[in-house]
Amino acid sequence: MNKKICLIHTGGTIGMVRTAEGFSPKAGYLETVLKKIDDLHADGMPDFDLIELDPLLDSSDMAVDDWNRIGEVIASNYSSYDGFVILHGTDTMAYTASALSFMLENLDKPVVLTGSQIPLSEIRSDGHDNLVTSVIIAADAKHREVLLYFGGRLLRGNRATKMSADSMIAFNSPNFPHLANAGMQIKYYPAVDQASRTPSGKPFSLCRFESVPIGVLKIFPGISFPVFENLLTEKLRGIVLEGFGAGNIPGEGHALLPIIRRAFEAGSIITVTSQCPQGTISLGTYKASTPLKMAGAVSGFDMTTEACVAKLYYLFSKGYSKTQIKELMETDLCGEMSRNI
Ligand code: ASP
Repeated sequence: MNKKICLIHTGGTIGMVRTAEGFSPKAGYLETVLKKIDDLHADGMPDFDLIELDPLLDSSDMAVDDWNRIGEVIASNYSSYDGFVILHGTDTMAYTASALSFMLENLDKPVVLTGSQIPLSEIRSDGHDNLVTSVIIAADAKHREVLLYFGGRLLRGNRATKMSADSMIAFNSPNFPHLANAGMQIKYYPAVDQASRTPSGKPFSLCRFESVPIGVLKIFPGISFPVFENLLTEKLRGIVLEGFGAGNIPGEGHALLPIIRRAFEAGSIITVTSQCPQGTISLGTYKASTPLKMAGAVSGFDMTTEACVAKLYYLFSKGYSKTQIKELMETDLCGEMSRNI
């Protein structure tokens, strides 16, 4: 029997049309386009249904409730399909992929996010291959997790990051090997951590996210931390600090540490990630990072900023204590960080 795939259209360039104000999503448009893509209806292709969200969004408008909406569509259709393909804008695709990887607990089916740099409505669109190959990948089910397929690369969703604003190969996962490359054939590779990621056997469930206040602060030479003091100490429950290299921050005279300590004592979780796309945080390797650890910050190791943000939402939504969240931020939950580093 043919496999059945659920296509969920959330918006993004792939389904956009030209308007006077620039490209914009158009309700009902994708359905007409899909009918004209012969590959999707060829023998051997899985059957599919299309679910279009309302409203369709440019992904730069996506927020926590939109992740919940996508999660709810998957949860309510989970048993009816062999896999899911989510059509999504590229701008925040890596955030949504990360969020879904935590939200969709005990997931045992492929959920593939894809989109395009050029709309299907325009010539030279990369949307055809991204869409058709994603549907095949979802049906092949070689990897049963949240995935991102784009420009010939199949990536783990919570390891992916958008690397280019205009290349057709827009995403990569600098800290995690590709799960497949699609050239003339689709070549799948086993995930390097496959042995340690045995399915839990528990039933699939959805964890809806709460919109807790979370912030990302990128450190730069000359940063004046007191300017951020109000934000860091009062308003934000989770803070992702993008430090230099292995997690270093400017020291003497920049007054960050007392602020971090106060934020930590007030209940904020401060997670340090790196501005370098590749490599890992190693708090304590340099004098410039040791005090961060002593002030209560946790290490994001080799997680992307996208995964850190999503993980903070997840852990706060689960209602864990501050101590538990600190510990779990440094623990691999669903392949978002490398073990043994
Ligand atoms: N702004 C668009 C979006 O993220 C860009 C894209 O899809 O490539 O929805």
